Amino acid sequence: MTNPRLIELEHLNGLKLKSYCTSLKKITKLSSIKELSETVGAKPRLIVGHGSNIFFLSTRKKPLSSIVLLNQLKGIEKINEKREKVCIRCHAGENWNDFVLWTLKKKIGGLENLVLIPGTVGAAPIQNIGAYGVEVGDRIDSVNVWDFKLKKIIKFTVKDCSFEYRSSIFKKQMLQEGWKKTRYLILSVDFLLWPENKTPLIAHYPGIQEELNGDLSPKKIAEAIKKIRTSKLPDSDQLPNIGSFFQNPRIKASLVEKIKKRFPQMPEFEKTYLSSKVSAAWLIDKTNFKGYKIGDAGVYKKHSLILVNHGHATPNDVLKLAQKIQKTIHNKFGIWLIPEPSIISSFEKTASSLMSPRNQIYIPHN
Ligand SMILES: Cc1cc2nc3c(=O)[nH]c(=O)nc-3n(C[C@H](O)[C@H](O)[C@H](O)COP(=O)(O)OP(=O)(O)OC[C@H]3O[C@@H](n4cnc5c(N)ncnc54)[C@H](O)[C@@H]3O)c2cc1C
Repeated sequence: MTNPRLIELEHLNGLKLKSYCTSLKKITKLSSIKELSETVGAKPRLIVGHGSNIFFLSTRKKPLSSIVLLNQLKGIEKINEKREKVCIRCHAGENWNDFVLWTLKKKIGGLENLVLIPGTVGAAPIQNIGAYGVEVGDRIDSVNVWDFKLKKIIKFTVKDCSFEYRSSIFKKQMLQEGWKKTRYLILSVDFLLWPENKTPLIAHYPGIQEELNGDLSPKKIAEAIKKIRTSKLPDSDQLPNIGSFFQNPRIKASLVEKIKKRFPQMPEFEKTYLSSKVSAAWLIDKTNFKGYKIGDAGVYKKHSLILVNHGHATPNDVLKLAQKIQKTIHNKFGIWLIPEPSIISSFEKTASSLMSPRNQIYIPHN
């Protein structure tokens, strides 16, 4: 039997890991979706935007056997203006940050806090991207998708999307049924935004006020956040990465109490009667992982939630590093950290061991 054609995915994942698949199709026209869907049929598939939130675990010997669908649908249009709001449709393959800058240029506010987040517009609803007090779900009117099961385009209202912290109906479906059976391909997103002077501004986050000097507008907030993000996050060209590798865990109040006896300074937030969220970055800092390396995979020295590729990291280096962090945090605090990125692996057992939750209450992928 001849070997299948190998396609490199290095340029399609934020960590720039050498990973491989055997079939890749670009989606550039809405009119070709139906035909594409027929070609894909019931075959395993994976949808990729810019790969800035995907950890690929595949090798030359064991490439991904699924069809990789690369979303490149382009276009931005104003749908209407109603009740002091502006409705904009943006197609899924547009660059997210370019779209945010486009809205600001057109004197439209609402997305300024989400400036400089890498990736495509179509991926933004998947994990309900969020930063500096705003989640994209707060700004969405509806999401238009191709449903591979019903074989037609359907509209999800914001309520249908079930947005939660770093989760949505789309992410849950992928995690429940497995990414090979991804049901929804996001085609475009309809945003409900505001004219610049009517925008409710969110600027209470630490660091923003200092940068603003009391001067408030969507553009000024975006400038302040750009400055903060650039100083904190690694330059992806120098140190390839996929942003935060772990989610902030929500843990039971009894466990918080137990940990606080040893570490009274542990920050907790979004506290309820039953549970609190704790900072994954704080937990990793406390176990001295900043700057730690396995092979060429390392924990970024300025931000312990970010795993970086120092040059020639392999998927296995990143996997070992992530597992070592999980085990160490679990031994010290009794908390199992869950990865934030999508883990796309040819080695299914390994991927599920990374994702297996232990003692958290709210498990985003369930
Ligand atoms: C330096 C850095 C900083 C970051 N900062 C933040 C941050 O502040 N807040 C935050 O929330 N995230 C952050 N991220 C994560 C990342 O930017 C987002 O998750 C982004 O939405 C990923 O976009 P993408 O196009 O690269 O998606 P990909 O990585 O290509 O895909 C991510 C997931 O979405 C699915 N997907 C992609 N497109 C579609 C589509 N059209 N239809 C259906 N499924 C699709 C994929 O199958 C995959 O499961 C950061 C990442 C980096 C590298």
